Amino acid sequence: MALSKFERLLDQAIRAEKGGETPLSHWRDFFMRLRSAADDEPVRDEEIASHLTAAFDREFRRASKQHCGIPAFTIERLKPAMRSKLDERIVQAADLIKLRRRESIENTLARFAGWSSSLPEMRKRIDLREVREHIYKPIAQIKYERRRVAIDQTHKLVASIHEVIADEGGAVAMIWRSNWRQVNYNYRVDHKERDGKVWILPNTWATRAGLIRRSSPRYDTITHVAEEPYCRCYATWLYALDEIPAEMLTAKGVSYARQMEAAA
Ligand SMILES: [Zn+2]
Repeated sequence: MALSKFERLLDQAIRAEKGGETPLSHWRDFFMRLRSAADDEPVRDEEIASHLTAAFDREFRRASKQHCGIPAFTIERLKPAMRSKLDERIVQAADLIKLRRRESIENTLARFAGWSSSLPEMRKRIDLREVREHIYKPIAQIKYERRRVAIDQTHKLVASIHEVIADEGGAVAMIWRSNWRQVNYNYRVDHKERDGKVWILPNTWATRAGLIRRSSPRYDTITHVAEEPYCRCYATWLYALDEIPAEMLTAKGVSYARQMEAAA
């Protein structure tokens, strides 16, 4: 909304400047109006808010797939408390977009200033369409950026939901899942290497009871899934010791796992 007003004002400016020279004081005033047109935007980004809310509900519906052995009611019970995480993400996403937008607007104004300070004779010769395209480029970029921010914030929200479920449910380890097989997915090589591997969660009932070997790979020594920008990795959370490779368990842990298996 506000952006279209900005675009209208800028369009006027480009036209006026094409016609002849405008005093510098005029542009200072004009830039101020442009900036305030751009600042005049809603605090909450409704589109992103509904995108994140939909992801939140979807994730709770199918969360049990990533948490084998956790009763559905345990997961459902956590939902109300997690709403605050959703609200935090919505605010954070809107702030990020606002920052990017401001940056793009400043870039556009700098391009305009550069063009309008060129010699009038030169300015008349350049095609107006080309000028407009060049000046608008940072702004055109915003739509794309906004989509990226929405996607990234969704992954971060989803990851934090699962971490809370895992924590509350008493998970002892996780398996890293990477989408590296997906066509055109620009994966991180070190995340591809983590794919399918088991990582032990620190400070759980199993570590405290001395069931896990100290040398086992630990999740707190690496970045978490979806932590790095645009990372789309995810986790499968493990709750039972017999799902963990035996070499990661102590002798006590191995016999504990056997007992559990026999009881099941
Ligand atoms: Zn990743």
